[in-house]
Amino acid sequence: MPIEAIAGLQLALYGLGWALAAVYLAEERAALSHWAAYALLQAASAWLAAEPMAQGLRPPMASLVLSVLGFVAATRGIDLFIRGRPLLDRWLLPLTALTLLPIVLSAVWVDDLALRRRWQETPYAFGLGVLLLSSVVLLWRPLRRRAGTLAALAVLLPSALTGLTGLASGVMHLVLGAPALGQVQQAARVPQVLASLVASAVFNFGYLFLLLGRLISQWRASARQDHLTGLPNRRATEDGLAVDWARHQRQMSGLSLALIDVDHFKSINDRHGHARGDEVLVFVARHLQSHIRVGETLGRWGGEEFLLSMPGSSLAVAQQACDRLREGLRQAALQTLGEPLTVSIGVAQARPGEASTQALIDRADQAMYRAKAEGRDRVVMAD
Ligand code: GH3
Ligand code: MG
Ligand code: MG
Repeated sequence: MPIEAIAGLQLALYGLGWALAAVYLAEERAALSHWAAYALLQAASAWLAAEPMAQGLRPPMASLVLSVLGFVAATRGIDLFIRGRPLLDRWLLPLTALTLLPIVLSAVWVDDLALRRRWQETPYAFGLGVLLLSSVVLLWRPLRRRAGTLAALAVLLPSALTGLTGLASGVMHLVLGAPALGQVQQAARVPQVLASLVASAVFNFGYLFLLLGRLISQWRASARQDHLTGLPNRRATEDGLAVDWARHQRQMSGLSLALIDVDHFKSINDRHGHARGDEVLVFVARHLQSHIRVGETLGRWGGEEFLLSMPGSSLAVAQQACDRLREGLRQAALQTLGEPLTVSIGVAQARPGEASTQALIDRADQAMYRAKAEGRDRVVMAD
């Protein structure tokens, strides 16, 4: 089997992998289908070239065309992956047309075989060089910003090297005579295929790296977010509180904490249904979130209960702030939901020498229950 055919097989396997991924990962389908197209077009290009190359001939016109289209698909896929839109199209598409035009036209108009080969391979080499190198320059910064230096290198370094090889080959087509060119091409055949095997492996693992990085960070984010309200969930709220606590311990900067519980929430569910209850919870979360101060963190602590961490606040300041939140929410609910909605809030402040956040949370919780017992719709301070 010619060595080009083996390279084609490797690419076809990558292509099938990306096509499968595109089927299962709807959110990334645009980029993944471009990467599938890239690998399958390159595979077809390698297969078309394999037999002629084995006989000491040059790759046919279709092989060059498919190869260019493959690299365009790869580049466009990266663009779609990092920016969601093909912003490079305005540059990429004219360049592709400019590269393909002489290749296709010479197949029609140039009869002399040696001349035709030059007219196809020279624009192919230069076109690919410019296309790949310019896309490396244009994509480097956005890719590095989104995915980090290592992923950007894995994805773009093979492009850069392939682009440079393209330019070098273009120059050779211009300066060398036909016999010398033929000799160089024959000598470069096996090393070139081996280099492309390695480059496409790095390329494709780079894409995989990008994809996994994105999936993992999405998964991490969703594991810390409350699905209904979009607020930090219990785990993330506890972590945030631990950070505020540690800073308070280091700097003795003060830390107050509020537990906010919606009054008679069960009756909203009972009267209007669970779906309406959900909407009310989202409303409460949004209102509170947009009225807390910079540096404070709000999280969903449980069903209809929210935890607000207020670093640096004295008890008096925290009380005032919570009272404003309570009153503001009551009025906003009356306007927006058309019915009264109130909250009971328990506030506690970290004490010197207190061992953990748990004691602080417990005291805020007790204060909140006192607020309930005293008639709800109020803020009660611990101690
Ligand atoms: P209280 O004033 O004493 O706090 O009364 P309450 O009805 O608010 O408190 P209770 O603890 O009796 O009921 C809370 C209700 O909140 C019960 C539960 O079904 C409801 N709930 C908890 N999580 C959700 C949720 O995500 N969506 C909806 N719709 N309801 C929820
Ligand atoms: Mg309640
Ligand atoms: Mg409750």
